[in-house]
Amino acid sequence: MDYSKYIKNVPNFPVEGIQFKDITPLIGDGQAFKACIDEFVDFAKEKQANKIVGPDARGFIVGAPVAYAMAIPFVPIRKPGKLPRETYSYDYDLEYGSNSLSMHKDAIVKGDKVVIMDDLLATGGTLEATIKLVEEAGGQVVGLGFIIELVDLNARNKLDKYPIKVLLKY
Ligand code: IMP
Repeated sequence: MDYSKYIKNVPNFPVEGIQFKDITPLIGDGQAFKACIDEFVDFAKEKQANKIVGPDARGFIVGAPVAYAMAIPFVPIRKPGKLPRETYSYDYDLEYGSNSLSMHKDAIVKGDKVVIMDDLLATGGTLEATIKLVEEAGGQVVGLGFIIELVDLNARNKLDKYPIKVLLKY
């Protein structure tokens, strides 16, 4: 399926100079959303993932349905102060601004095979932080899945040891 017609370009959002890729038209079309999730389910099955991890907040939108379809756990990576129990935390820079992410310490155990899902790969900062959290807990990252990759930002340089599945490149 050609998903590109479901992605809207929004200039100067959330700050001047950023071309925001809006995925809400894609998830707003039931057939397109299902086709997109099905592709990631195939990918996660092929990688033999036993857990899906997704960063706050759009990683939840794409990650949770993949976990549901495979009947495996979904692990949320959240902004500080949101998870109620003991967490690992990691600070990183974003395409616009900086951020910190946390994960419950018991969400991943040694030997887990994890596919990390997010809507969009920009600088790779969010993904690097998420990988750090999974690996600190003893998990093995067996794949990364994104709807969109912004190729000019060269995130792949940081992530080249992981298999990556992307539906659209800009
Ligand atoms: P990175 O950490 O620089 O790779 O940025 C990726 C994160 O920022 C993802 O969690 C995205 O949801 C969000 N993000 C960055 N740019 C965009 C955009 O143009 N559209 C949608 N999300 C974006």
